[in-house]
Amino acid sequence: MIKLENANLSFGSTHALHNCELTIDKGEQIALIGPSGSGKSSLLRVLATEYRLDTGDYWLDSRSMRSLSSKCLKNQRCDIAYIPQDLALVPNLKVSQNVMLGQIGSTHLLGSIKDTLIPSTTKLNLVRDILQEVGIPEKLFHRTDSLSGGQQQRVAIARALYQEASLILADEPVSAVDPSRAHALLDCLTQMATKHTLTLICSLHNLEYAKTFFPRLVGMREGKVVFDGKSSDFTDKDFSALYQLDNG
Ligand code: ADP
Ligand code: MG
Repeated sequence: MIKLENANLSFGSTHALHNCELTIDKGEQIALIGPSGSGKSSLLRVLATEYRLDTGDYWLDSRSMRSLSSKCLKNQRCDIAYIPQDLALVPNLKVSQNVMLGQIGSTHLLGSIKDTLIPSTTKLNLVRDILQEVGIPEKLFHRTDSLSGGQQQRVAIARALYQEASLILADEPVSAVDPSRAHALLDCLTQMATKHTLTLICSLHNLEYAKTFFPRLVGMREGKVVFDGKSSDFTDKDFSALYQLDNG
């Protein structure tokens, strides 16, 4: 279970998270929505343990992430797959190698580099299976930068699956693709999460996608959760309040 309690995170005088409260059960699939600058990426980075809260706490399976030592945090990160908005793929590596980097945190660094450069048949077969699941099996040995934006997003999803984390955090995973590909990608991401019983938290620009693919919406404004409920309960009034459309 994930619990943010009175979470605060500032950059200078900017409150990226401001008394933020959120509880998420294992296996839930959540879309994070809200205007630009409302704190979605900051929240995801806190959940990924990339940022440490200034005050308040982040509990993950009853352990406080705020007070965890750096060494323990590193271990904890093996169970958290974070897909940043820029995907963080290495462009000149093969797709197979980028996917294998998903386990770089959980194995010995040298071993992991060796695995990536000279993979065993078992590992390669595993990567092939995952690429099949995300719909690009034929790209196994292609250079990553030869793929389209949507295909690269699938590689990042494959890397997250290869990591075998139980929590997947994706920051605007479909921002770079056209609507039909966005549908296919979100379908892929949510289906993978359901199939492997993963907790999935995904920030999205597009409310229609959020409502179509996610049962629960968390709406952020000025670093706070201002809507938290079923997608089907999210009304036009909630939308106006979240984006403050009434203020012009
Ligand atoms: P969103 O993802 O909803 O657009 P962010 O979490 O990126 O929002 O940003 C929330 C606020 O925190 C913004 O005002 C942003 O400028 C600020 N912020 C986020 N990350 C940083 C950072 N690394 N350094 C300085 N300010 C930041
Ligand atoms: Mg963002």
